[in-house]
Amino acid sequence: MTDDVVVVGGGIEGYVAALTAALEEPVADVRLLVRDDGRFCHEPGWIDLLGYPPADGDSAGDDDAGPVREPLQEPFAALSDLPADHPYSRAGVEEVRRALSLFEELSGYEGLDSDANALVATATGAVTPTFLYPDSVASGLASDGRETLLVGFERIVDFDAALAAAKLDEFLPYDVGHTTIELDVEVGGAEPAKRFAEVFDDNEELDGELPARRAVAGKIRNELDIEPRIGFPAVLGRSAAEDVRSDLEAILQADVFEVPLGPPSMPGLRLADRLRSELDDAGVAVETGVTVTDVGTADDRIASVEVAGGSAEGDDLRERYEGEQFVLATGGLGAGGLRADRERIREPAFGCHVTQPADRADWVAEGFLDDQPFARAGLAVDDEFRPLDADDTPEFGNLRATGRVLGGADVAAEQSTGGVAVVTGYAAGQLAAEW
Ligand SMILES: Cc1cc2nc3c(=O)[nH]c(=O)nc-3n(C[C@H](O)[C@H](O)[C@H](O)COP(=O)(O)OP(=O)(O)OC[C@H]3O[C@@H](n4cnc5c(N)ncnc54)[C@H](O)[C@@H]3O)c2cc1C
Repeated sequence: MTDDVVVVGGGIEGYVAALTAALEEPVADVRLLVRDDGRFCHEPGWIDLLGYPPADGDSAGDDDAGPVREPLQEPFAALSDLPADHPYSRAGVEEVRRALSLFEELSGYEGLDSDANALVATATGAVTPTFLYPDSVASGLASDGRETLLVGFERIVDFDAALAAAKLDEFLPYDVGHTTIELDVEVGGAEPAKRFAEVFDDNEELDGELPARRAVAGKIRNELDIEPRIGFPAVLGRSAAEDVRSDLEAILQADVFEVPLGPPSMPGLRLADRLRSELDDAGVAVETGVTVTDVGTADDRIASVEVAGGSAEGDDLRERYEGEQFVLATGGLGAGGLRADRERIREPAFGCHVTQPADRADWVAEGFLDDQPFARAGLAVDDEFRPLDADDTPEFGNLRATGRVLGGADVAAEQSTGGVAVVTGYAAGQLAAEW
C-alpha cells in the first residue's frame, strides 16, 4: 500500500494534519494511523491558544516569579513576543489565524471573532482562559456577568456543585448558587459520565415515568431563583447533545451550559465524532488500534512505517504502510510520543533526536511552580516542521512533526496545548500535501 500522506497519531494534531492534507489536495491518498480511539476522552473540548505569557526559561529559584499569573486577554498580541523556537513562531501569526479559522469551520466552535481569550469555569471552581469553545460552553463564560446556578448529579462525583459554586462565588462579581440532585440512573459497570450521556441522548424514562430531560428540569425548577443560566457537569448527551440542551433550555426558560470534567470527557468525544465525520467526508483512510513500531528509510527519507495491531508492542499482527510524506503526531510523555528512562527522553516511533537538558539532574527545577525544563523537551524543527538532528539538519526530508511531541514550549504552563495541536497539525498537513 502506498499513500501520498501518512499521519501517525490520533490526537487533535493528527486529525487536523490528516484533514488539512486531504482538503488541501483532494486527490491525495491520506491515511491516519490511530493507536487508541479514546484519546479525545482526555480533551476538555475547548481549544486554548495562549492563556499565559510563557516563563522566560530562567525563573528557577526566582522569588519574583510567583505562582499567581494574570491570564492574557489578547493572545494574538503576545504571539510576536514568543521565542523563535516556539511552535507558533515557526508557523507565523498568519498561519495561526488560518489554522484556527479552519478548525472553527470544521468543529463548529466559536471565539475567533473576538480575538480575545474567554474565561470559562472549571469543575473545581476556578476560571481558566481559553480561545475556541463549543456552543455548550458559550453561555457559561465568566465575562458574561449574569447570575448562575450550578447543578450537580449525586452519581457524577467529579463535579461537586457546592464546592465549585462556593469557590466561584468568592471572586466573581455575581452570585453563583448550587444544588445537587439525585437521578434514578442505573449505571451498572459503565462509566457514569458515558451512561448519563446515553440516558440524556435517548431521553430514557427515569423513575419509570418521566423522560430524563423533563425529570431533571422538574427536580431543579424549585431550586431555581432568578438565575438566567444554569451550569451542569458535561454529561448532557453525546450524539444528541444540542437537542438535550435546547430541550432543557425550553423547559427551564434559562440558558444551559456545561462544565467539562476529567476523562471520559463528553465534549472531547463529541469533538472526536465531529472531526471523524469530517475525515470520512474528506476521504481519509483511518486505521484504528495500530501502533507504529518501526520505520523503513531510503536516502534520508521515510519510505514506510511498520505497525503492530493494538497498543501492545510485539503484537503478532503487523502491517507496512508506504508513503510519500509522513506526519509524526504521537503526542508527549503522557501519550507515549515521548518516553523517558533513567538517562534521557526518547522519541520511540521514528527515533528522532529530542532536544533536552544534557544532564538528567537539570530536568527539574527546584521549586514545584518554577519553569520546568523537562516540559520544554521535545523535537526541534525547522520552518517546515521537519525534525532536526543534533546538528540542526533535517532528519528526514519527508517527515513533519506536530503537537506535543515538539519542544520549545511548555504548553501546559502557558495553556496552549490545543492551539499548538491545531496550528502545527494544520501547518504539517499543508506542507505534506505540497510535496
Ligand atoms: C477537562 C480537561 C481539562 C484539561 N486541561 C488541560 C490543560 O489545562 N492543559 C493541558 O496541557 N492539558 C489539559 N488537558 C489534557 C489535554 O488536553 C490532553 O490530554 C492533551 O491534549 C493530549 O495530548 P497528548 O500529547 O497527551 O496526546 P495527543 O497528542 O492527543 O495524542 C497522541 C496520539 O498518538 C498516539 N501514539 C503515540 N505513539 C504512537 C505510535 N508509536 N504509533 C501510533 N500512535 C501513537 C497516542 O496513543 C495518541 O493517540 C485537559 C483535559 C481535560 C479532560
